[in-house]
Amino acid sequence: MEGFLLRNRDIKGLHSLEVYRKHGGYDALKKALAMPPEDIVSMVVESELRGRGGAGFPAGMKWKFLPADRSKKRYLICNADEGEPGTFKDRQIMEFDPHLLIEGMTIAAYAIGACLGFIYIRGEYDWIAKVLVRAIKEAEDNGLSGSNILGTGYQFCIDVFRGAGSYICGEETALIESIEGKAGRPRLKPPFPAAYGLFGEPTVIHNVATIASIPFIIENGPEAFKEMGKPGSYGTELFGVCGHVNKPGVYEYPMGMSLRKLIYEVAGGIKGGKKLKAVIPGGLSAPVLRADEIDVTMDFESLLAAGSVLGTGGIIVLDEDVSMPHVAQKTAKFFAHESCGECTPCREGTNVIKFLMDRIIAGQGAPDDIAQIQRLCRYIRGSTICALGEAAAMSVGTMVKKFRGEFESLLTR
Ligand code: SF4
Repeated sequence: MEGFLLRNRDIKGLHSLEVYRKHGGYDALKKALAMPPEDIVSMVVESELRGRGGAGFPAGMKWKFLPADRSKKRYLICNADEGEPGTFKDRQIMEFDPHLLIEGMTIAAYAIGACLGFIYIRGEYDWIAKVLVRAIKEAEDNGLSGSNILGTGYQFCIDVFRGAGSYICGEETALIESIEGKAGRPRLKPPFPAAYGLFGEPTVIHNVATIASIPFIIENGPEAFKEMGKPGSYGTELFGVCGHVNKPGVYEYPMGMSLRKLIYEVAGGIKGGKKLKAVIPGGLSAPVLRADEIDVTMDFESLLAAGSVLGTGGIIVLDEDVSMPHVAQKTAKFFAHESCGECTPCREGTNVIKFLMDRIIAGQGAPDDIAQIQRLCRYIRGSTICALGEAAAMSVGTMVKKFRGEFESLLTR
């Protein structure tokens, strides 16, 4: 299937402006700059494009939340802090099709009235940051970014800002704090970034794949976008399949793709002909599905109905040899380590869960440890400042709930 985000992966040298333009690149920007910004907002609202970073919030709605006064300074931020374990889709766009992101950002910035934008990229993506900087320079040198874009007088500059390896900086307000030079800790909301964002100004933040969808919508219209996917989940998704499959990789399909098909047909089935044990369908934060629960389609509503989430679309496949208590231990360790420590339920809860998991794995678990983990997960949920605490509780809590027997078999005291 040919998607519109990875459509050009087979074209050699697409990262260069010359090749990108040869294949229609920046035509959408040209079209957009000839339209009133409000019409672009309407097109994106009509497309029902939802955020691809995890939360699935309608992109156009974020734009609508901006204050009506356009004379105020506004910022656009691209969240490229792709730190969710099992997620590696945004890097495909940034590394192989950087001008798609630049074009999408410039259109979005024009629509919302921003003249400065940031790509906040995770520090580990050092070489991709360099690709982006080169592409931005190329766009600037050719009148496609910076001042007087395409001779229209419109100005928009993009700065690449490298993170320092903190998972929590993928949370939008922690990311804003980080750009401001502070420790990356989430802010209490409201106010939301649309009202009080970067340096206190109205700010829109979108994930890479969300922004990369915008040129298609402008070029082809919202209806063409809605021909892909299903109601509530239009467009395509980049599914990153990893773990125990024969062909791990990033695959673009319309939303609503069958999870079973993705694992057994697209990704070539389970390695070594083994049996499937479980799947984490949307990055490590997503609640695990058992092997008998994979007859679900990959879209926002279906996964919610199945007790999980689409999240980042990063699919972690686990075969029959995997010990779920070990997966839970690693998951607990990750979230305890990445908790910023700002709120007590997350800071203490994730660390106590990790402590309990460590002693269960060490064969020193107490009879009440499993119930204690589940109690902690309940306390954490709904009582934290940001979604990290919720994610830790949902992921570990579901592993314990669905594979309880395996945890119990490790209790010796
Ligand atoms: Fe920090 Fe965790 Fe609270 Fe989020 S939930 S603000 S990561 S302590």
